[in-house]
Amino acid sequence: MRVGVLALQGDFREHAAAVGALGAEPVLVRTAADLAGLGALVLPGGESTTMGNLAERFGLFEPLRSAIAGGLPTLGTCAGLILLAAGTTGPSVQPQLGMLDVTVERNAFGRQVDSFEADLEVAGLPGTVRAVFIRAPWVARVGEGVEVLASVDGHPVMVRQGKVVGTSFHPELTGDLRVHRLLLDMAGEH
Ligand code: GLN
Repeated sequence: MRVGVLALQGDFREHAAAVGALGAEPVLVRTAADLAGLGALVLPGGESTTMGNLAERFGLFEPLRSAIAGGLPTLGTCAGLILLAAGTTGPSVQPQLGMLDVTVERNAFGRQVDSFEADLEVAGLPGTVRAVFIRAPWVARVGEGVEVLASVDGHPVMVRQGKVVGTSFHPELTGDLRVHRLLLDMAGEH
């Protein structure tokens, strides 16, 4: 299976490695043509304003939106979650895809120095998932039809709506591939 990783900015290499470790073929997505023939898609962590602006400049915004709206299973991590969301708290300064009916609060846990790790209980996964939070957002509003899969101190940090999953944390950094496995499982049903 070919799994696209948006490769404009951020830690797309780590995601490509995670996808490859699960036996899928990572495809670095930089143009609309790269979206052809994908079984799933990853939007990486990084800086969501930059990523959104680059996606617009590269003519990728509408193609991404229609691919995801067409049912392409998609995982967005951290900045990727922000890109997928419908809005942000506070003034809107960035393009967003609106493919997850949530409002996110950027940098909600604090600044770079407040980055942290936690063992998270994730609905549907046994045990806990080691989660790395780096200037992470949390989900401030959850729309109808959006399932909360994990929270920290009552704030949702992993959500799912249909075949779109967003995490505030970075599953690509720990070697625990279960979140990427979830994406590939959704793709198997696709
Ligand atoms: N703070 C970044 C943003 O708002 C996200 C950080 C990350 O992806 N680790 O875009």
